[in-house]
Amino acid sequence: MKHVCVLGATGSIGCSTLDVISRHPQQYAIHSLAAHTNVDTLFEQCVAFKPQIAVLVSRQHALQLSDKLAEADLDIEVRHGEQALIDIARDQQVDIVMAAIVGASGLLPTMAAVEAGKKVLLANKESLVTSGQLFIDALATSEAELIPIDSEHNAIYQCLPHTQQDKTGHCTLKQQGISKLILTGSGGPFRTTDLSTFDDITPEQAIAHPNWDMGKKISVDSATMMNKGLEFIEAKWLFNVEPNDIQVLLHPQSTIHSMVQYADGSVLAQMGNPDMRTPIAHALAFPERIDAGVEPLDFLTVKDFTFEAPDFERYPNLKLAIEACGLGQAACTALNAANEVAVDAFLRHRIKFTDIAKVNELTMREFVSYSITQIEDVLSVDKDARQHATTVVESLTVSLE
Ligand code: NDP
Ligand code: MG
Repeated sequence: MKHVCVLGATGSIGCSTLDVISRHPQQYAIHSLAAHTNVDTLFEQCVAFKPQIAVLVSRQHALQLSDKLAEADLDIEVRHGEQALIDIARDQQVDIVMAAIVGASGLLPTMAAVEAGKKVLLANKESLVTSGQLFIDALATSEAELIPIDSEHNAIYQCLPHTQQDKTGHCTLKQQGISKLILTGSGGPFRTTDLSTFDDITPEQAIAHPNWDMGKKISVDSATMMNKGLEFIEAKWLFNVEPNDIQVLLHPQSTIHSMVQYADGSVLAQMGNPDMRTPIAHALAFPERIDAGVEPLDFLTVKDFTFEAPDFERYPNLKLAIEACGLGQAACTALNAANEVAVDAFLRHRIKFTDIAKVNELTMREFVSYSITQIEDVLSVDKDARQHATTVVESLTVSLE
């Protein structure tokens, strides 16, 4: 029996994780569940999975959950605060941590899980993007095993020669005859939308992804392709490759989730219906395979199978992220922070869709020369970049009014 801690339990990835786990009660038990503010969903999950500990960020939400649990006669310990997230992630009884908090708020609990030597299932790409080498160093010096949940990175992980991987999934790709990693992306809902109408795109349109059902922030990131940009940076760290070794390709059908090209001309692809329960089940059970509850891919109903190069005019955020990858850690950390602020402002109708790239670029340029050598530097650049981005958002909001 493996004991699992789910950080971000009430989100899209958290719920899919619990769905997979519910299919294998003999193999996995929930040790702890954590969320931000969603008391009702966390309560339902507590009823269904009976964890030992449930965590919410604020005291007020934790008290609400405690009351509901007492009414239901359930004896589950409720904690609150950021330290509580860190504590469950490194709890001695936990074997597997699903890191599925959205945004840089996931950094410290995910790092804690790595440092405590857990099997870490990494959905929270922002934690790796913001801390880069520091994260990889923590992984290398601990007993932790990291398996990517992001469908692209999970696909690449599945296509790599596992016999030669070390525990981080790291391998010197060139030595193993790998010439390129190909990251695929659908291009989001605006791949064919007239560019001249981009200023009018609404949050409701942006979060309606054609293939994947995801949280709001990553849905907007998919529409701007900042998601692919963050994934580009994520791939560089996870697989220890240079930016030149990664190619981004649009594949609107989302059937191929990414590919590995070998020196002999072979290309290995991982395919399936677009359902995050597949990478979650893969990572939970690796190196074994378990049922994920996912419909198998029916090739006879797959109508098209097409590929395009991304257009940087349409997706300036993708271009920015690739540039940040070459500029260094502070650029990546600041870009991620700016993007979280900009996406939030867009979702609250404060700025236009096209303003997201402006906030991101102006903020990223401001922080390029900052040095990041320890986790405190990451937190400080993240904080300052948020402040800077908020100022840029305010200037754009004024011009909108
Ligand atoms: P959601 O917005 O659906 O869920 C986010 C989860 O994190 C919720 O449980 C939320 O709690 C919790 N949370 C938010 N802020 C905080 C905080 N400050 N402290 C603690 N918990 C917090 O996001 P997704 O599930 O879509 O994405 C989660 C992560 O996985 C992201 O990093 C995303 O990039 C990545 N990912 C997601 C994919 C997907 O298909 N959804 C695919 C690949 C990667 P509450 O509900 O209470 O707000
Ligand atoms: Mg992805």
